[in-house]
Amino acid sequence: MNVSIIGTGYVGLVTGVALAHAGHRVVCVGRNSDKVASINAGKAPFFETGLEVLLRRVIAQRRFTATVDFARGVADSHVTIIAVGTPTIDGAIDLSQIKEAARLVGEALSKKRSYHVVAVKSTVVPGTTESVVWPILANASGKSAKSLGLCMNPEFLREGNAMEDALDPDRIVIGSSDSKSAQAYAKLFSKNTCPVFFTNLPTAEMSKYVSNIVLATLVSFSNEMGRLAAQTRGVDVVDVWRTVHADRRWSPKIRGKRITPGIIHYLYTGCGYGGSCFPKDTKALYHFALQKGVSMSMLGSTIAINDQQPHRLVELVLHALGELHGKRVAVLGLTFKPNTDDIRESPSIAVVRELVDCGADVVCHDPQAYKAEEPEALRGLRVRFVKDYASALTDADAAVLATAWDIYRKIPPQDFVRLMRKPIVVDGRRVYDPSKFTRAGVQYLAVGCASEL
Ligand code: NAD
Repeated sequence: MNVSIIGTGYVGLVTGVALAHAGHRVVCVGRNSDKVASINAGKAPFFETGLEVLLRRVIAQRRFTATVDFARGVADSHVTIIAVGTPTIDGAIDLSQIKEAARLVGEALSKKRSYHVVAVKSTVVPGTTESVVWPILANASGKSAKSLGLCMNPEFLREGNAMEDALDPDRIVIGSSDSKSAQAYAKLFSKNTCPVFFTNLPTAEMSKYVSNIVLATLVSFSNEMGRLAAQTRGVDVVDVWRTVHADRRWSPKIRGKRITPGIIHYLYTGCGYGGSCFPKDTKALYHFALQKGVSMSMLGSTIAINDQQPHRLVELVLHALGELHGKRVAVLGLTFKPNTDDIRESPSIAVVRELVDCGADVVCHDPQAYKAEEPEALRGLRVRFVKDYASALTDADAAVLATAWDIYRKIPPQDFVRLMRKPIVVDGRRVYDPSKFTRAGVQYLAVGCASEL
């Protein structure tokens, strides 16, 4: 099938490359001609494992191209996928990109004669596709449901594993206004073997929120338990999690072998969730529920706990150093999780900002978050960015581990002792062995255990 995708961000580009790899002819429509030219040259605008290799392959096979020519890109396709951003403003979803994309798609389709399906892939609150997207599309195209199909196909990819997830999804959810739209759209995924759920538009929209929010809730629950453990002499929450994870309902035995499902990683104390989805999706659904008069106390607590969690790391640094003015603090990791270059809403950014506010001289390291320039989220702050973690640790009075990159997991405690002015380590992701670090002479502090450890 010929597919046009509106948006060349994480979801648009990764989906486009995956669909091209599956044999479709894909055109990704972007707004920025430099970015589009760079994509056409095989260069992805962000880091995602495996993306560039596959991008170059599908370009060479002439199955993928990017363009800024909205009208042609859409008119030459059978299906259009809208994958533009849906940020929040003061907690409420901002649909301006969706509305603009729907209008432009509608206008581009006004002269097209054959049947066309438009699918919303962006995460939108329940009811949006039906009551916001459809009227704009119908009005701008002059078409009715007879010649214009409408679907909602939420995206479940995980940044860091996005290419793998797009090529081999665990589920496909297709919400539609009618079965003709759904059947036409489902042809895109005829080679996929995962379960396909056909449903209505608002159920598809809500399924995406609930998938994210259940995980965000586990993270905040784990951090709340960590707070209690930190105030309870003798308890280390990591040991508690080991016993919880051993429950066969969390880690079942398959053919006699205990497996570790991915869900377990959300039941662990750290410095909170971040990224482009969990923070905004939790807030958008909370706001949506408020508007409906539904009080979501658990969701509200999930958000509040997460907003406070980065502060715990700064508290630990203050506990160890007393005063931060003139003290050098190394922050290891800026991305919201390893294997991505995305620092959107990363807890590390909140940690860095607070440390700077407290007067610390902050030196950051991250293997992916910045190249030639400092990341935009930290622009204007008095922060240094260095190329290797050893430079960040050199002469530091304290180090904060904020992202669990593999290279940081492997740092031996002796390196902290050798490089730092004072070997004080705040483990915000619980990746180090407290007794090993303490034995090596490190003053080890961490979320989820008493700071006297
Ligand atoms: P993004 O900000 O990386 O990309 C969105 C892109 O859309 C931007 O490049 C923007 O320039 C482009 N755009 C906006 N209006 C446009 C227009 N009129 N024409 C052409 N391009 C336009 O966002 P993303 O991370 O790809 O997310 C997109 C949607 O998918 C969001 O709703 C998000 O919540 C959802 N989602 C994201 C992820 C993720 O991991 N990033 C996962 C699942 C779902």
